[in-house]
Amino acid sequence: MTNLLNLIILGPQGSGKGTQAELLAQKFDLAVLGTGAMFREIAKTQSELGKKINQIMNVEGRLVDSELTSEIVKDRIERIPKGQGIILDGFPRTMRQYELFREFWPRLGRGDYHILCIELSEAEAVKRLATRFVCEKCGEIYIGNDSGACKVCGRRLIQRPDDSAEAVRMRLRMFNEQTLPMIKEMEKEARVIRIDGSPSIEEVHREILKKLNLT
Ligand code: AMP
Repeated sequence: MTNLLNLIILGPQGSGKGTQAELLAQKFDLAVLGTGAMFREIAKTQSELGKKINQIMNVEGRLVDSELTSEIVKDRIERIPKGQGIILDGFPRTMRQYELFREFWPRLGRGDYHILCIELSEAEAVKRLATRFVCEKCGEIYIGNDSGACKVCGRRLIQRPDDSAEAVRMRLRMFNEQTLPMIKEMEKEARVIRIDGSPSIEEVHREILKKLNLT
């Protein structure tokens, strides 16, 4: 067993979990495995898998099949150096995925993990996502900045197609129907650390460090 910091970070879209995952990764040199970004990359490829994922994600707007997702995540984790901690952002997100995760994780020999859940009301999530812009090149996220150019690399800022109000509501519904029951299940056997996602990025970050005893 190792003493590496491993985290599962959960929360509805717009809760800021991706941003918090990046901050933690920089501070503690962790590898972030974000399944949304991972699938967006795979969907761009012309492989059979790419075409299949593109159809599910971008055409049908569904979740990718849990068995397939779990296989890909496990494979990606195996490619991360054994001495590096991991943040899972976006997986597991259904009861079935949690079941599959619990089957494979102990076999990877990466030690224990903490579960963080960043909470945000639906109204606040919809409001944030309606004003979320991302850099078309480096993926840097901006809330309420539609001035046009990325401060990091200078490229254009765009709205993600899945941030339209309708798509956001659908993803929040999926979160309520599929992920919340999983979190309840997790709470039966592990400590889920709940964080209020409504304050500023810095405040949420400090709260996470405090609750993980990392200050
Ligand atoms: P996200 O950026 O987390 O909203 O993910 C974008 C899309 O990727 C989702 O709508 C799903 O189609 C797919 N996806 C991401 N994570 C998962 C997951 N854990 N299980 C199944 N599909 C996923």
